[in-house]
Amino acid sequence: MTGLDPRAPFVLDTRELGRRPGSQRHVTLTVPAPADLGIEVLHVPEGAPVDLDLRLEAVMEGVLVTGTAEAVAEGECARCLEPIRDELEVTFQELYVYDDSREVLRSKQGIDEGIDDQDTSLLQDDLLDLEPVLRDAVVLALPFQPLCRDDCPGLCPECGARLADDPDHAHEAAIDPRWAALTELGGSDPADNDKANPAR
Ligand SMILES: [Zn+2]
Ligand SMILES: [Zn+2]
Repeated sequence: MTGLDPRAPFVLDTRELGRRPGSQRHVTLTVPAPADLGIEVLHVPEGAPVDLDLRLEAVMEGVLVTGTAEAVAEGECARCLEPIRDELEVTFQELYVYDDSREVLRSKQGIDEGIDDQDTSLLQDDLLDLEPVLRDAVVLALPFQPLCRDDCPGLCPECGARLADDPDHAHEAAIDPRWAALTELGGSDPADNDKANPAR
């Protein structure tokens, strides 16, 4: 594991907090969004402001971070492709374990190398990285299929018009499927049927 960069926007220094359990610090800051924050169809543009409101609390094993993040996600409606903006407010909580107390835990419990590391966030030289936690929280908060409005009717299957703009939209040309079947029975060339309905 490589060391954390103390200048990276989502890396926080906990040295001022100290290690006495119960000591707390309240931190607010605005940082630029990293790339790919969110899902492909709805994400916070890279560099857009993310407002963080955090409480850092020293506990026995490490530092407990509880916070909220606010940002604006942009994307498009899954049905009609209209651009949408979604004001996000996500909450998260994560325990960052002291490097050395993890070693103690491990030797006490005889835990094998690596088993624990995937799910455990670690403090490295009193630094913690909020980015993975923020990413998880944002993805969980996003709708699987973003919509411009809950009842978006989508696009006309015939011409692609946005039906929300034109609810009475209709095409005269639509041929009744029963008639289409009859014309086929009439023994005409099937290729003609694909070209819809000029007077037959
Ligand atoms: Zn829509
Ligand atoms: Zn249409």
